[in-house]
Amino acid sequence: VPRLKDAFPGVPCCFDTDVNAPAVAEAHEDPSIQSCCYVTVGTGIGIGVCIGGRPVHGLVHPEGGHMYTPIVESDLKSQFTGVCPFHGCCLEGMASAPSLAARAQKSIHDMKDVADDDPLWDTAAHYYAHACVSMTLMLSPEKIVLGGGVFNRSVLYQKVRAKTQQLLNGYIQHRRLLTDEINSYIVEPKYGPDAGIQGARFLAQQALLQSSPLQ
Ligand SMILES: [Zn+2]
Repeated sequence: VPRLKDAFPGVPCCFDTDVNAPAVAEAHEDPSIQSCCYVTVGTGIGIGVCIGGRPVHGLVHPEGGHMYTPIVESDLKSQFTGVCPFHGCCLEGMASAPSLAARAQKSIHDMKDVADDDPLWDTAAHYYAHACVSMTLMLSPEKIVLGGGVFNRSVLYQKVRAKTQQLLNGYIQHRRLLTDEINSYIVEPKYGPDAGIQGARFLAQQALLQSSPLQ
């Protein structure tokens, strides 16, 4: 950021992760909410968190893609131990695009040939749903956005919603979790594949609005 400020004197600059930015943008898109978790699933898994309209940084920034989730039975049987070089069987290790490709014994680019009714998507949904449950219980976001290349597989959304409701088992007494309103709780990115860049645009807009015009 200092280098940018030196290069563009007087121009407001800000910096955040590629998942926090869309999390903030998604939260501000809907005037009825102030919090959002934004999950991207591709070659890795990233989770951005916006609470009270602001991105969460904390010690560094959230790294929810590396949370541990219970291993699904089929993975226990096949002894699939995950692909994360740091943790093996964390969320990213078990449910990123490379881990799904490893199970299917295909390249990532050939994953489009896997049918919608392949059990692999139920396996994937198990992990994403556990992540949604953890986010819901720990952060109580008003919306969870699931994006990234893997979520071009639109059949995943209903699987994740159903599994999330099953795992929560009615514990969170809110209609967005108890009823079909979960369709507006676990959602696709508003800007689709442009979620990241639109998040950056939103942060830039905020930085501009917050800076003094005389600076
Ligand atoms: Zn990991």
